[in-house]
Amino acid sequence: MSDAARSLAVYVHIPFCARHCAYCDFNTFVERAQSGLVLETVAAIQADIARTARELEAEHGRVTVPTIFFGGGTPTFLSGSQLASLLGTVKDNFAVEPNAEISSEANPGSSDAEKFGAMREAGFNRLSIGVQSFDDGLLVALDRFHTAGEAERAVAAAREAGFSNLNLDLMFGLPTQSLSLWETTLDRALALGTDHLSLYALTLEPGTRFERLHAGGRLDLPDEDDELAMYERSIGLLTAAGLEHYEVSNFARPGFRSRHNQVYWRNEEYLGVGPGAVSCLEGRRWKREKLPARYAAKMKAGTDLAVESEQLDADGSLGETMMLGLRLRDGLPLERIRARFGVEPRERFALELARLQSEGLLHLEADTLRLTHRGLLLANDVLAAFLPD
Ligand code: SF4
Repeated sequence: MSDAARSLAVYVHIPFCARHCAYCDFNTFVERAQSGLVLETVAAIQADIARTARELEAEHGRVTVPTIFFGGGTPTFLSGSQLASLLGTVKDNFAVEPNAEISSEANPGSSDAEKFGAMREAGFNRLSIGVQSFDDGLLVALDRFHTAGEAERAVAAAREAGFSNLNLDLMFGLPTQSLSLWETTLDRALALGTDHLSLYALTLEPGTRFERLHAGGRLDLPDEDDELAMYERSIGLLTAAGLEHYEVSNFARPGFRSRHNQVYWRNEEYLGVGPGAVSCLEGRRWKREKLPARYAAKMKAGTDLAVESEQLDADGSLGETMMLGLRLRDGLPLERIRARFGVEPRERFALELARLQSEGLLHLEADTLRLTHRGLLLANDVLAAFLPD
């Protein structure tokens, strides 16, 4: 056991939704509100938090928590008092820092001023609202169960409840979506005075309704150039409105960058509790049992929740740290790589760096490596170059 307190970001996974969106492959299950399974799962997550905190303390000593993130699924599928109680369990079992960032995802279809008020009172201080689009036709196509108007009312309710740090999730590259339709969504998001925006390009995940439609030739998607144009227009519009483009897909007003997500982009340690949640600690990454009923049964029986576990080798961690760190627009200070891995990245990645710099995709200045504007547009392909074969 070491004397120094270990700092660990905590993620809490709520694996339920009121219905399933056409594009989603997250670990989530459509369930009736407050069903027996929901109640059992909430109790199991609380037991998981308490047991994990005891185990971590025995192994590593005091654990301090700088950020907490409730995601899903749909955290707001639960009641305000259940969310407050879950957060209370985290606070009772870990040394949560006084200025911790405490976020929750929220779905406009299951959010109101009362729930947000209870969450704010419990200590949540940031909401990430899954808006996806301000076009009602697209929301129907996505199988979302809220309208654009409800999303706007959710933002107003969050402000009324005292949330001064709000993110909106938006998607582009959607079926039949034109550039001007996308601009309208961005304009409406800006008009709401949002503090942070996360923009996601639609990806077709195996097993989703969208993937089946696409395989059958029945999904009219924008082509790659159109999707790129939407991304470029987003950068132009949002930065002109004063938001900082601080990560490939994320924009924030100064002072509103997501602290929790920066833990992931720096490839630092985190703990995930709840069904299917991933943890990464001491060079090991593991996932908890995904099915809520099995997760709750294992928790009750006091057995190990880990179902997939891998020991991360140094080379893999180095590659991931390069790949994730370069997503940040401030770039990756190479000294951080030397200090953490004891290797000289300019030598270890000499071939990759030479190629990516000569193609105008990466730029090295004052020992900090950054994506160029062109590299940003091709970020996924560029960054994959750092992963081991
Ligand atoms: S609400 Fe979110 S987690 Fe639930 S199905 Fe839709 S996209 Fe997936």
